[in-house]
Amino acid sequence: MSAPFDAIVIGAGHNGLICALELARGGRRVLVVESAAHAGGAAITRNFAPGFKVSACAHLLHALPQSVLEDYTLEQHGLKFAARAMPTHALSASGEVLRIGAQDIAGNGATTTDSAQFQDFRQRMTRYAGVFHSVMGMTPPRLSLTRWSERFDLLRLGLRIRLLGKKQMRELLRIGGMNAYDLLDDNFTGDLLKGALAFDATLGAEYGPRSPGTVLTWLYRLAGEHGSGTLGLAQPAGGMGAFSDALAAACKKAGVEIRLSAPVQRILVANDHASGVRLVSGEEIAASTVISSADLRTTFFKLLGTEHLDTGFVRRVDHFRARGLVAKLHLALRAQPVFKGVDEAALRGRLLISPSMDYLELAFNPSKYREVPTDPAMEITLPSLNDSTLAPPGQHVLSALLQFVPYDLGPDPVAARADLLENTLATLERHAPGIRQLVMATELLTPSDLEREFGLAGGHWHQGALSFDQFFVNRPIPQGQQYQSPLPGLFMCGAACHPGGSVMGYAGRNAARAVLAQGV
Ligand SMILES: Cc1cc2nc3c(=O)[nH]c(=O)nc-3n(C[C@H](O)[C@H](O)[C@H](O)COP(=O)(O)OP(=O)(O)OC[C@H]3O[C@@H](n4cnc5c(N)ncnc54)[C@H](O)[C@@H]3O)c2cc1C
Repeated sequence: MSAPFDAIVIGAGHNGLICALELARGGRRVLVVESAAHAGGAAITRNFAPGFKVSACAHLLHALPQSVLEDYTLEQHGLKFAARAMPTHALSASGEVLRIGAQDIAGNGATTTDSAQFQDFRQRMTRYAGVFHSVMGMTPPRLSLTRWSERFDLLRLGLRIRLLGKKQMRELLRIGGMNAYDLLDDNFTGDLLKGALAFDATLGAEYGPRSPGTVLTWLYRLAGEHGSGTLGLAQPAGGMGAFSDALAAACKKAGVEIRLSAPVQRILVANDHASGVRLVSGEEIAASTVISSADLRTTFFKLLGTEHLDTGFVRRVDHFRARGLVAKLHLALRAQPVFKGVDEAALRGRLLISPSMDYLELAFNPSKYREVPTDPAMEITLPSLNDSTLAPPGQHVLSALLQFVPYDLGPDPVAARADLLENTLATLERHAPGIRQLVMATELLTPSDLEREFGLAGGHWHQGALSFDQFFVNRPIPQGQQYQSPLPGLFMCGAACHPGGSVMGYAGRNAARAVLAQGV
């Protein structure tokens, strides 16, 4: 056994790094072991074609709490932003464009009645999202409520809901279980607006806009955005890898040791307690606390082994839903594309192709039958417009999230991939005529590619679906609450845990606090 550490964190994704940093600040000697050759997990930058770089998975910071930026002094550790407070525009193939702001909507795609309604609606949703945001930074209490601190946490949450006032509290309870389709249809008339808002309500979920629970998933996304303060929607200079590099630098400064290209083969157990890790190289490293930021199946089935778990727990992990539905497309473009009706400022922001809720529902339907969408819904960015280091001079990178691409591509996955690429390029061509001729290279990452390349079991971008049954006190699973596993000394700190995915860092931070609270 080599160097003694108080804690070993498996995985140098942003949650693993934040967990390690918090533990080091708490005076613990911490080692992070990462299988990849670089830190960042799903928050990295890489070359996808000669001279072209892109944020390989996460491409926009939309939920990064201001507190993470400030507490870990990331800007002092090299993080710069190529763009902050980026705008969102919804596009239609006919050239109508709608700018969707935090307070208002504008553009030729905005109807007068919707413009009048929007501010009030958005303010209401923001207030509700504020309630959800207040739970993101806390360890969800156990429902047995044996500790006073947990009782106070629940009381505080109840009080936050009560402080909304009777009318708003009733409205939140009314809409909380609704689907986004009905809620948006009750409030707005314009298809472009409804399609774009429904896009956010369903992004990354195994849901179409008519699926129950999509108001909850939307509120949750808004809750993440609630904490981002003035940063808003942001693009790190150098891509998402620059964010992870700044975190890694902060870790090292705090005394954390990070070992890259060091995949863990096994979590070691001695006397029914985690006792360290064995790397694939055969090296064993001892520590009485092991915290895994890998997804649930990797942590418990691959690294720990079911022999250390009871059958009820194993069944729950097996049933944890983590089927990915988001794919990523990267295009290397020989010149700047022209999108119909989109000016330069809009092109530097976030563009959505989801022109109506029916379009979105139709894009969702094939995924139920392991088929790819004919007309994909997507979120597009052109990061090289804000950051010239990502592409050769005059050339550009297009980075897009494609919704509703199933993990299992059916009986002929090769043909399905080709169809998906063709359908996506055809959709882009309708909105940006001539873009096909600009394409020099493509990279398409489907959920099964994400599993293979980023170790995300099931290919789910958030290590597991966020839905009512896998949310708050039930995340990841009822027997795995509070970042603890059934094995003493083994904890979890990745996006599979409360409050879930996106580059926000709460899971890593909460987990470290839960570990420290145990006096480890
Ligand atoms: C395609 C895609 C697009 C996305 N877009 C956005 C976006 O625009 N904005 C946003 O906020 N979020 C986005 N996300 C979500 C976000 O990237 C993730 O939720 C977040 O990065 C998860 O961070 P994490 O640290 O919890 O886990 P991960 O980043 O998954 O890190 C886990 C780490 O554990 C390592 N690991 C696993 N097994 C082992 C082992 N045996 N030994 C050693 N190390 C191991 C992995 O290599 C990895 O580095 C996107 C995700 C994907 C996949």
